[in-house]
Order: sequence, then structure tokens, then C-alpha cells
Amino acid sequence: MIPGPRAGVIGWPVAHSLSPRLHRYWLEAAGIAGAYDLLPAPPEALATRLRGLAQEGYAGVNVTAPHKEAALLLVDRVTPLAARIGAINLIRIDPQGRLEGDNSDAGGFLAHLQASAPDFEPKGARALLLGAGGAARAIAIALLDAGIGQLILLNRTRARADSLAAALGDSRAKAGDWHERAALLGDAALLVNATTLGMAGQPALDIDLSALPAEGIVYDIVYKPLLTPLLAAAGMRGFRTVDGLGMLIHQAVPAFEAFYGQRPVVDAALRRHLLEALGETEAG
Ligand code: NAP
Repeated sequence: MIPGPRAGVIGWPVAHSLSPRLHRYWLEAAGIAGAYDLLPAPPEALATRLRGLAQEGYAGVNVTAPHKEAALLLVDRVTPLAARIGAINLIRIDPQGRLEGDNSDAGGFLAHLQASAPDFEPKGARALLLGAGGAARAIAIALLDAGIGQLILLNRTRARADSLAAALGDSRAKAGDWHERAALLGDAALLVNATTLGMAGQPALDIDLSALPAEGIVYDIVYKPLLTPLLAAAGMRGFRTVDGLGMLIHQAVPAFEAFYGQRPVVDAALRRHLLEALGETEAG
């Protein structure tokens, strides 16, 4: 068999990453004899590792924690979107060996929201975004670019929400007080958890959902576990819920296309394949 393109995911640690399982599923479905490798790199080795990728024949790589911000400073160029987000999760390598950093987390977040709640109209809507880390920043930009009417940024450490709001420089985005999170849900069309709360081993996100309007959507980007305490509480109250696994899958679509030259299909069988690795079922 003729070897196909080579790609991988660079992180530290990286052994837990679902990306190899995801990309290898699509490789097999498309009949492409490509490779997708795990590329562990501690922070001090990141620059050298990235520099060697072109020579090793890589078409590109995904970048995961903790390198998303550091890698942005090490590539030859970044897309305007990635520059605004300040982090990259995708590197394309051109035939001359130049590295281009991009961010597909923002698009992945939105694509999964649109797939899960196709009637959600961001224009004029009010959204509450919890968190001010790398993921929250990508999501804030995705929602603003999609035309969200008002974006309230809440974070445990208020100063980080303030600096995110300032960096966004958009009058629709305002920081609020973390302790006001339940009260601020009134009139919100969308609640997004982009903190680590609810992850396996972390405390649950403590929020009273009673002020959220009945048609409100609750989106938790945490996917381990798939059914977080937040999504379980939202489901009990009859709100529409959106889980974090779809964002992970959708952010990988442009990556696969960049590495292997074909746009992959997101389907229920792929979700089941990934849920199996997470030890979960669709019902949660
Ligand atoms: P990060 O940069 O480390 O940010 C962590 C955020 O969580 C910060 O806002 C932090 O607030 C908050 N936080 C942590 N512990 C908290 C606590 N006890 N109480 C209140 N807030 C707390 O992480 P990230 O990269 O943005 O990722 C955030 C989450 O998103 C992770 O669970 C990650 O796995 C998930 N994620 C999912 C996808 C996907 O495709 N589904 C993609 C990216 C990330 P402070 O500023 O106060 O510390």
C-alpha cells in the first residue's frame, strides 16, 4: 500500500487524546492509507518538535493542551481568526515546510450548536458564557462572529473575565460577576459552560437554572463525562442540551480536510465509536 499523508496531535500529556481514534476512523472510512500519530512533547521540547515536523513528512498536526497558546508564537504564520483567539489547535504544513497555525475550536463549537439546535438564531440573542480560559475565548469570538446580540462573560477570577471583555473590544461583550450567574440567566437564550467544572475529578458547576427561559439552550463543552451534572440538571428541567463531544468532532473536520484532502462526514456511528472509548453510551 502507498503510504498516505501523515498527521498527529502534539500535547503533554497526550496519551488520553481522542484525536487518533477520531482521525483513524475517518481514514478507514475514506480508504486513505494515512497515519495519525500521538506526539508527546513537554513544553521545553515544543519548539524543536514543531521545527522537525516538515522534515519528518507531516502534512500537519493538531495542537492540544498545554501548547495551544505557546505554539501560536512558534509557527511561521497564523490565520487572522487564530490571531484574534490567541491560540491554535491546528497546524498546516505547506510543501515548502512552512507552518501555518489556525483555530478550529471556534468553528467546531458553532457547527455543533447549529447541528444540535438548528433553529437557534444568535442575532439579537443573549448568551451567558462561563469561563475565561482558552476555550472560552474561542467561543466568545465564535458567538460574536455569528452575530450574538449580547454576551455576558462570567469567570471565577473576575479579572480574567474583565481582560477577556477588554480584549474582545466589542460593545456586545461585557464581564459580569460570577456570583450573579443564576440571576443573569433571565432573558438568556444560551448558557455555555467553558470552565473545567463538571469534568471527571472536578466539582460540578453549581448553578440554579430556574431563571433560564423555557426555550433556553444549555451547552457544556466538557465531554468527560458526556452527561455532566449541568446537562443532567438542564435535561431534568426540560431545557435543550448540547454536549461537548460534538464540538470535539466538529473541530476535527477542517483538520482532517487539511491533512488528508477530503472533507469527512460527522455521523452517529462516529459518535458511538468515540463514546465507546470514553466508556459511555448515547443515553449517558
Ligand atoms: P483553561 O484555559 O485552563 O480554563 C479553565 C477555566 O475553568 C477558567 O475559566 C477557570 O477559572 C475555570 N475554573 C477552573 N476551576 C474552577 C472552579 N473550581 N470554579 C470555577 N471556575 C473554575 O481551560 P480550557 O482550555 O479553556 O478548557 C476548559 C474546558 O473545556 C476543559 O474542561 C476542556 O476539556 C474543555 N474543552 C472542550 C473542548 C471540546 O472540543 N469539547 C475543547 C476545548 C476545551 P479561573 O480563571 O478562575 O481559574
